[in-house]
Amino acid sequence: MGSLPATSKLDCFSGYFNTINGQLMSTDKTRHGINPATGKPNPEVPVCTQQDVDDAVKAARTAFTTWSKTSWHERQKAILDFADALEQHTDDFAKMLTLEQGKPIQFAVQEVQVGVLWMRELAKIKLQEEILEETTDKQVVVRYTPLGVSVGIVPWNFPIHLACGKIAPSLLTGNPIIVKPSPFTPYCDLKLGELGQRFFPPGVLQVLSGDDQLGPWLTSHPGPDKISFTGSTATGRLVMASAARTLKRVTLELGGNDPAIVTKNIDIKTTAAKIATLAFLNSGQICLAIKRIYVHESIYDDFRQAIVDFTRTLKIGDGNEEGVFLGPVQNSMQYEKVKTFFSDIEKEKWKVAVGGVNDEKPGYFITPTIIEKPDESSRIVTEEPFGPIVPLLEWKDEDDVIARANDTRLGLGASVWSDDVEEAGRIARQLEAGSVWINTHIELDPHAPFGGHKESGIGYEWGVGGLRSYCNVQTLFLKKKTS
Ligand code: NAD
Repeated sequence: MGSLPATSKLDCFSGYFNTINGQLMSTDKTRHGINPATGKPNPEVPVCTQQDVDDAVKAARTAFTTWSKTSWHERQKAILDFADALEQHTDDFAKMLTLEQGKPIQFAVQEVQVGVLWMRELAKIKLQEEILEETTDKQVVVRYTPLGVSVGIVPWNFPIHLACGKIAPSLLTGNPIIVKPSPFTPYCDLKLGELGQRFFPPGVLQVLSGDDQLGPWLTSHPGPDKISFTGSTATGRLVMASAARTLKRVTLELGGNDPAIVTKNIDIKTTAAKIATLAFLNSGQICLAIKRIYVHESIYDDFRQAIVDFTRTLKIGDGNEEGVFLGPVQNSMQYEKVKTFFSDIEKEKWKVAVGGVNDEKPGYFITPTIIEKPDESSRIVTEEPFGPIVPLLEWKDEDDVIARANDTRLGLGASVWSDDVEEAGRIARQLEAGSVWINTHIELDPHAPFGGHKESGIGYEWGVGGLRSYCNVQTLFLKKKTS
């Protein structure tokens, strides 16, 4: 194991290090991710030991004593400077993101830009003390004080955006953070950690790469005070159970099975194109992707034709090829999981509207596929494939389609598509999900709360409330005189 001082210049995207206590650290054992477009290995990255975790937690706890006392303005400035530096390295990060995650380069650039935007916008929010009562002899004040050390656990679908969405609120509110990327996509997050050393004192921003032991080591460690986790519902349960032993605060952003309800009052061609885009973006690997499409029976056939025609135009390939919309699925595990839905096509006698067959070629490529009117109880309707395969369903009764949309233990997002604003609003207000859109889907805002209902999560991130989730609340009862 060795260490290098973190220099003022971001090392080129060749060597990958953990950042612990302001140092770039290598480990005896290393591993690598796979470029999902080619199946070839990406560079070696560190594999943390329990000792590395202990060192990082100790450094973060030490950093907490000073970082929590710096002014809001100072912390805000450091985050804004960090965001500027990330923006200056957009191309380097985007290239690496395409290599490690597989997404087409234009979407990789967008993800870096969104990471920058999130940090800048979140840094504009300020948690104010609230005066609940003020009289001549008494004051009651509500304050928000930092929790301590937080851990940000990030999935492989949006490694930069989701890391930035945890780093900024945690650091702004005075809590040092240890970021743990997915072992499938460690590269950009490790470089974020390296870049951040220019702007934050040692121990304030640390990034650790490891194998499957690292997550449980962090969630069960007695040092951190909060876990902000984004990933699957199954892992979310493990995280919560592990954090419960030390009563860590948890925010869980989990899986989704988002319905889109398409009424008869739409422009069919444009709506079909938008819905296909929002189902197949990032090759369907978005917690908030449209995963069930319910179309009114009176326009079903025309809508079906329009969405099939549009889906046929979507180009699949290596993210560096011109005009590609769908890159590969990110990893072999996910690829095999998505393919089980394709095996079900014959078994379950599903009708394929478009797609259905995958060419055997290197890389984890899956053809965007629409399954027509499968049984409501089939896996393709009830589960989250997290890949480019989606069911197209028909409805005629408004109450019935709302009940079907809500008939799931997940409740992350949902959308209604209609030019009749009253109809759209009426349906939208009855949907059980943390984010509900009318005539769009997936669009997020760093100032708006983002979280899931039911088994899609606990708590929420972003906005004022998201920042408060990194804080203890304290009520200060003040009597102005002892007599
Ligand atoms: P995952 O749950 O397998 O992994 C997420 C992260 O948790 C990774 O960093 C992983 O290494 C880590 N991890 C795994 N086991 C752990 C454990 N026992 N303790 C602590 N950490 C552990 O999820 P994934 O496959 O990376 O991502 C896909 C899932 O994430 C989908 O279900 C998707 O819907 C969901 N997701 C949700 C959101 C959201 O904001 N709600 C956003 C993106 C993805």
